Amino acid sequence: MPELPEVETTVRGLERVLKGRRIEHIEARRPDLRRALPPDLGQRLTGARVTSLGRRAKYGLIDTDRGDTLVFHLGMSGHWRIDPSETAKHDHFIIQTNEGRRLALNDARRFGSLDLVRTDDLEEWPQFAALGPEPLDLDARELKRRLVGRTAPIKLLLLDQHIVAGLGNIYVCEALYRAGIHPKRAGGSISLARLKKLVPAIHDVLAEAIAAGGSTLRDFASPGGELGYFPKSFAVYDREGKPCGCGGVVRRIVQGGRSTFYCPSCQR
Ligand SMILES: [Zn+2]
Repeated sequence: MPELPEVETTVRGLERVLKGRRIEHIEARRPDLRRALPPDLGQRLTGARVTSLGRRAKYGLIDTDRGDTLVFHLGMSGHWRIDPSETAKHDHFIIQTNEGRRLALNDARRFGSLDLVRTDDLEEWPQFAALGPEPLDLDARELKRRLVGRTAPIKLLLLDQHIVAGLGNIYVCEALYRAGIHPKRAGGSISLARLKKLVPAIHDVLAEAIAAGGSTLRDFASPGGELGYFPKSFAVYDREGKPCGCGGVVRRIVQGGRSTFYCPSCQR
């Protein structure tokens, strides 16, 4: 499942092909993904020039000179293919640029989405209106303020999009491990001093993954390149029963229906 670093890597890869280019043609090969595609997608995008690309939480943003933003979400299985040699089964949406480059959004499970939002209205768009700050913009005092009085486990609070946006299961596990914070600890009980370790840990795990993704981007110059997925290694995530560097053993528990991996010796 694509997490924030995969989305960021995808956006950077798309930027190379789309930024400053005109959209010559689009093809919506089905009427919906997770929800219906905008019916006027073709009319509003065809002929528009892409002015910039960006990301909010796990959404990718493609801005055009007509004041529209094409907002995509990769869901569980989505990815963009660059210059595919032929159209594949799950290529649901295709963009062709004035340079003849082709981008195909492929999503076998169709949990992703495509929306067209007026760029000026993005902050008030329902999917964005209630989102917390970007994890890379978060600071410890802001997080402390957001956790005040909260008795839920810190693991679950960090996955709450209203508290911080776009932080997924893998990176929450890894950041809590680096900060030495037990995933079951009540969010509101964590001192500012400890949050001052946690927030840089969040920044670092994301920045390292984004850097790893960025280093793979050159491979996408080749036809059929799939954007956004890259190998990663983790200290605790998916390492149940394996040794921690401290001599302890990584454990797995289930919180909110999802696996949490942590080291009981390092995390208190
Ligand atoms: Zn340990």
